[in-house]
Parts: sequence; structure tokens; C-alpha cells
Amino acid sequence: MDYDVIVVGAGPAGCTAARLVAQAGYRVLVLEEHPAAGEPVRCAGLVSPRTLEAAGLGSDVVVSAVTAARIHGPLGAVLSVGGGRVYALAVDRAAFDRRLAEAAADAGAEMVFSARVTRLEHVRGGVRVRWRRGRSTGEGTGRLVVGADGPNSVVARWCGLPPPPAAVRLWAAEVELPHTCDGTVDLFLGRAVAPGWFGWLIPVGPSRARVGTGTAYGEAPGACFRRLAGRYPRVFGAMRVLRTTGGVVPLGLRPKCYGERVMVVGDAAGQVKPISGGGLYPGLLGARLCARVACESLASGDCSAARLSRYQRLFEERLGREFRLALRHREVYLRLTDRDVDEILRFLNRPYWRRVIAAWGDTDYPSLLAGRLLAAGPWAARFWRVYEKFLRAGEGIPGE
Ligand SMILES: Cc1cc2nc3c(=O)[nH]c(=O)nc-3n(C[C@H](O)[C@H](O)[C@H](O)COP(=O)(O)OP(=O)(O)OC[C@H]3O[C@@H](n4cnc5c(N)ncnc54)[C@H](O)[C@@H]3O)c2cc1C
Repeated sequence: MDYDVIVVGAGPAGCTAARLVAQAGYRVLVLEEHPAAGEPVRCAGLVSPRTLEAAGLGSDVVVSAVTAARIHGPLGAVLSVGGGRVYALAVDRAAFDRRLAEAAADAGAEMVFSARVTRLEHVRGGVRVRWRRGRSTGEGTGRLVVGADGPNSVVARWCGLPPPPAAVRLWAAEVELPHTCDGTVDLFLGRAVAPGWFGWLIPVGPSRARVGTGTAYGEAPGACFRRLAGRYPRVFGAMRVLRTTGGVVPLGLRPKCYGERVMVVGDAAGQVKPISGGGLYPGLLGARLCARVACESLASGDCSAARLSRYQRLFEERLGREFRLALRHREVYLRLTDRDVDEILRFLNRPYWRRVIAAWGDTDYPSLLAGRLLAAGPWAARFWRVYEKFLRAGEGIPGE
């Protein structure tokens, strides 16, 4: 075999897995279809402080800190929360990815850019990977392949892995917007502006912000954003769009993230938080576990699917329950009317509940707060109504 591991995709998950396996002394090849890591940016770049630690990066990639949030209901309710601590950081996502790619290369991984993987096949003792690079083609063999090739993973398709439980389509932009950089994120709820999801405005400088919205249904998210901007002229009226992006984000783990001599990681595995769509923290965690299992399997000379299934178990031990709970709460949210949403926000905008949210809000582990919200009357009533129906219909609980 030419390599021990071939990693497809030089995003954060691929580069982190590549770095860790290379650091253990294995020969690693990383193939990336774009000419450089980090571009084009497809992200709002909002992460928990914990994510930066998991990435091993410093504050130089941070552009602003979030200490509070305003959640706008569809019919005028506003819930303001914040407890004076830093809940999230907006990062320069291109620099974030670049730094992780540099770290992988420094650890000894061979990085090949502008190389789009087109075919994979099992060969004796490994996998042959073929790629296209401009007008030429290339190929290499590896004892193991790591598919870190994002939500439309070629590797997962080749392997026939089952899909993640849900997905959402996002539209996002970096905009110029006269806005004080006061550390407050605005979130917008409602069927017209973000069906099954939420809209956002993240200030990243005195007159810069990242904005966007998403939809879990058929409608184009760009059209939803135009409605969002039209509904809040005082917020978005003076906005000038600098750059747009978007894409599909899988929500929740694939039921199987491995196959014979293959593992998938990051978005390719559905390692994305089902409530916020944040994939950086779970993807980095997944990369660590994937690298650990890769090294163990290579050392034992057994890269069979049965051996690699340990990766799935390790990830589920760490975030499986968290993802399942998030999917349950999401199921309830999807059934709320706009009127329900406003009623719940008004209820929560009381000093006691604002304190609870400020104390327990954690973007990586929302179950900490969600458990407490089951004592919040209007939310709890709807939650149990939905679950009673599921259980009575013998459907079980989604995500379980
Ligand atoms: C609009 C939007 C906003 C988001 N906002 C946030 C946020 O605020 N916070 C957060 O945590 N997450 C956010 N996410 C999700 C986050 O961007 C992803 O979870 C994260 O990028 C996943 O990292 P990854 O390494 O798994 O995949 P990616 O970053 O998608 O990297 C995959 C890499 O594989 C390469 N590739 C794909 N196919 C091939 C191929 N055939 N051959 C070679 N290379 C290939 C791609 O070019 C890419 O570089 C957002 C996503 C979107 C779309």
C-alpha cells in the first residue's frame, strides 16, 4: 500500500484526523478538491470556546465574542438572554481551516490540493482511490480510507452508508451593516422566515455581521432570508451584502459511519448538532475518535468493518444521547405554530427563566438546558403531548 491512511477532504475534520494519525507515525495522504484549505467559506463561524480548545487553536482566529442573545418570535415576542460570560466565539473560518491544514502538514501528512476524488475500490489489503487533478488523473492505495468530504460525501455513497436522520438547507452572507459590535446575537424564529430552523445575525465588527437563515422544507432558504430582511427593516434595512454562501447541513449521526477499511467523519458522518447545525465541535471530536480507532486498527493489522465499529460506539458514548435528545426537542419544535412559539418565548422572558437559560445554556450540550425547560409550563405541555402521540402510535421516539 502507498499509504496507511488516505483522507478525502481537507476540512477541519479531515485535517485533524490526518494530523493525529500522522503524529502517530503513519503515512497519511490528504486529498482536497479545492486549491487551498478554508476556501470557499461555507459557515457562519460561530463556535463554543470549547471548540477552539478541541482544535488546538488560539484566540488569533477569533473575530468577536458573544455574551448575549435576543430571540425574536414570529409574532413580536422577544426573549433576551445573557449572563455576562462568553457563550460563543465568531471565528475567521478560512484561517481556522488553514491553520488545521498547516498543522496536519507539519505532522507529516502529505497534502494534495485541487484533487477531486472520483472513484474508490477495494483491493487486496486496502482501498484504491482515484482522483482528478486539472486534466490529469492520479491514484493511490491506502490500508484505510477516512471520508471527511462533507455533507455530500463521495466516500459515504461509495460505501452505501445509511443517511443521517435529518437535514436543513442554509443560506448565509457576510454583510456590511451599521451595527454596534455589542456581543449580542439575534435569532429569528417563524414559519415564514425560517421554516423548521432559525435566522441569525452575528455581529463580527463595528459595521460587519454574518447573517442567514435555513429551512427544513422545500422552500429556497434565500427566499426565506429576503422575507426575514423585509420583516425587520430596522435591523436589515441598511445592509450591503459582501459575500453569500450556503449549503446542506446533515442533522444527527448516520446510523453507521464505517465500513470495510473505511470510516467517515465530520459532516460526512452527520456529526452535526441537530438544534444549532454546528458541526465544528462534534466534527473535531469525531476526528479524534476516528484517528484513535484508525491507529489501533492499523497497529493490530485489522481494518475490518467489525474492528472499525468501535469508532461508532465511541462517538455514541460521547454525543449519542445528546444528539438523540436534541432530535426529540427538534421534533416538538417542528410541530409548534407561530403562536405557540411566541407564547413560549414570552413565558421564558421572565427573570427566573432568563437566569436558568443564562446559567445552563451551552451550545454544545443543549440537553443541560433542555432538561430544565421540561419544567417550563408551555414548553413542557407541548413536549409531552407530542411524545404521548408518538408512543401511542407505537412509533417510538425519533432518533432512538
Ligand atoms: C451556511 C452554513 C453555516 C454554518 N455555520 C456553522 C457555525 O456557525 N458553527 C459550526 O460549528 N458549524 C457551522 N456550519 C457547519 C460547518 O460548516 C460544518 O459542520 C463543518 O464545515 C464540517 O467540517 P468537515 O471537515 O466535516 O467538512 P467540510 O468543512 O465540509 O470539509 C469537507 C472538505 O472535503 C472536500 N471534498 C468534498 N468532496 C471531495 C472530493 N470528492 N474529493 C476531494 N475533496 C472533497 C471539500 O472541498 C471540503 O474542503 C455551517 C454550515 C453552513 C452550510
